[in-house]
Amino acid sequence: MQNTAASTPTHCPYCALQCGMNLAPAEGGGVQVLERADFPVNRGALCGKGRTAPAVLDRTARLTEPLVRGADGELTPASWEEALDRVAGALLRTRAEHGADAVGVFGGGGLTNEKAYTLGKFARVALGTSQIDYNGRFCMSSAAAAGTKAFGVDRGLPFPLEDVPRTGCVILVGSNPAETMPPSLRYFTELRDNGGTLIVIDPRRTRTAEQADLHLAPRPGTDLALALGLLHLVVAEGRTDEEYIAERTTGWEEARAAAMAHWPEYVERITGVPVPQLREAVRMFCEPEAAMVLTARGPEQQSKGTDTVGAWINLCLATGRPGRPYSGYGCLTGQGNGQGGREHGQKADQLPGYRKLDDPEARRHVAGVWGVDPDSLPGPGRSAYELLDALGTDIRTLLLMGSNPVVSAPRAAHVEERIRSLDFLAVADVVLSETAALADVVLPVTQWAEETGTTTNLEGRVLLRRQALTPPAGVRGDLYVMRELAARLGVEKGFSDSPEEVFEELRRASAGGLADYSGITYRRLAQENGVFWPAPERIDGGRGDGDGGLGDGRGSGDGGDGGSAPHPGTPRLFLDRFAHPDGRARFVPVVHRASAEEPDEEYPLLLTTGRVVSQYQSGAQTRRVAELNAAAPGPFVELHPRLAKRLGVVEGDRLAVVSRRGRAVAPARVTGAIRPDTVFMPFHWYGEGRVNTLTNPALDPVSRMPEFKTCAVRVERA
Ligand code: SF4
Repeated sequence: MQNTAASTPTHCPYCALQCGMNLAPAEGGGVQVLERADFPVNRGALCGKGRTAPAVLDRTARLTEPLVRGADGELTPASWEEALDRVAGALLRTRAEHGADAVGVFGGGGLTNEKAYTLGKFARVALGTSQIDYNGRFCMSSAAAAGTKAFGVDRGLPFPLEDVPRTGCVILVGSNPAETMPPSLRYFTELRDNGGTLIVIDPRRTRTAEQADLHLAPRPGTDLALALGLLHLVVAEGRTDEEYIAERTTGWEEARAAAMAHWPEYVERITGVPVPQLREAVRMFCEPEAAMVLTARGPEQQSKGTDTVGAWINLCLATGRPGRPYSGYGCLTGQGNGQGGREHGQKADQLPGYRKLDDPEARRHVAGVWGVDPDSLPGPGRSAYELLDALGTDIRTLLLMGSNPVVSAPRAAHVEERIRSLDFLAVADVVLSETAALADVVLPVTQWAEETGTTTNLEGRVLLRRQALTPPAGVRGDLYVMRELAARLGVEKGFSDSPEEVFEELRRASAGGLADYSGITYRRLAQENGVFWPAPERIDGGRGDGDGGLGDGRGSGDGGDGGSAPHPGTPRLFLDRFAHPDGRARFVPVVHRASAEEPDEEYPLLLTTGRVVSQYQSGAQTRRVAELNAAAPGPFVELHPRLAKRLGVVEGDRLAVVSRRGRAVAPARVTGAIRPDTVFMPFHWYGEGRVNTLTNPALDPVSRMPEFKTCAVRVERA
């Protein structure tokens, strides 16, 4: 590795906070992470994952040459020509023998905007397949679906994080930032220092919940009932904002009637949260002038995740929060480019700019940018789990980039078996993940500090990650991989391996869409600390002060002749209007329903899953970092002392957690911080402790999100 600059301002490779950091030459080669105080989101603070990120650049941790599976079944080094020829041959063969939709493409929420955009284009233009989706479907798709229904657009946070300390109360639902994104915790500390209050809703008393003014611990899978119970009390106590409801929303009567069926005592029976705590939460949320609800994976990763998030949005709308200063609803996106990754076309139903694949006008616009016939673009394909479930049957060859579904998908043993049954698997990755180890061809690609690209953080802030190192000689970029494969498929033009060139095309493709990037350039990103979308190319008669509602100041993005100044970006959405054509937000009536799997005699407990501070997602990268591995060496089963006593279990005993889909083994961790009817396991590991062996792939009917957060299990000594 050679350093290409003395000190390079960039961003962390991991979570959606996208903390700013500087990379400087390290003694003995490579780079070291230095504080970057000028980036406002983290102001120099980093968690252990960010601090140790350069460890994954090390040759010993990562792939440095292509691998192909030989006749003996082993992966052996090969040239790039041979590896790419083998992948292209398999893609062509499958397409010729079984049709274009027999080729699948699976992406990741960690891919840069340029890669996600190109992957969607590669699938639809070079391969002609509709079968593309990505692991972000497992992350925040329910919040995206609910936000789109209610507001007409999904941007994780419609306001910057700096608004959090200025509000009066935050309800944090199913989120544990103390472990998932520690530098963000200061926003909640400052909120409380300013006199505001924090309510945390989580079945576990997490490190975040310990800092709350009020912690509600509902049974897993009952957040929907909880939100409805709170809305019932808001109505019963006369705390609705009738003027706001009349002026800025539609659908209140139906949503109100649905909520009124959820009496507090009924909600207490479902959730286990006592009525006085419900009343206290309502008081704390309604009394301040400004308040927010922020959700994360807890309410979202359920087979009713869209309705659950919808119920929390209804609570916000009924109390007049969204579109008011320092108020509203937001989703804390998880993956590094979870926001940008869902905007530019690697999702089964989407085209760049958050356009819909089944919208004729969207197809016409994007096909025009791509220089193809709109009718040649395939329609929407399967969602992530459905795509994985079809491997080896309808889908015979898979190209996978930046994802490790063998660890991260629900019902993972089944998914692994499906992957093993493929005719051909090609994986482009940085490390030999558990999924890459099953591939016929592994393509070693550049990562983070070795390449330039943009990401969009959880606030909708588009950021530039800069290259700080030259990559190892045997490694190429994902964009190079797609360009070379497209050429071998007979598509010689339209694929570039220059990130800036790709971004220039993405700007045009997104112009006029909901997620409009046409006013954002690499030059601008290099000078500013990110630009919030929508950022049309010009202020086109709108206010253009960066605080307007979506739609204000949205230019055509094509001409550049409509105004006098570049658009400054839009930190705050909805202040004037929501993104529906009439400018109003929508209440969506929802009612409580049970989870797909409830406890019974055979499986009497609930399992919920989550993360620990020193590992990231499937652990493919962080498990290769010695310091992180020492801090979090393996999975565990968290259970309450009363349950432990009943089972005759003590701390450290090996436990088998068994669901209808399989069994996972890990040591017991006995703690009073969890409900007695629930056990918890983190999901970062493969092998006997892989918790996703147990999880339920029951899908939300709208978002197609699997029910990671709750399933029925029994626990026995292993
Ligand atoms: Fe990286 Fe997230 Fe940690 Fe920040 S909080 S250093 S973005 S992993």
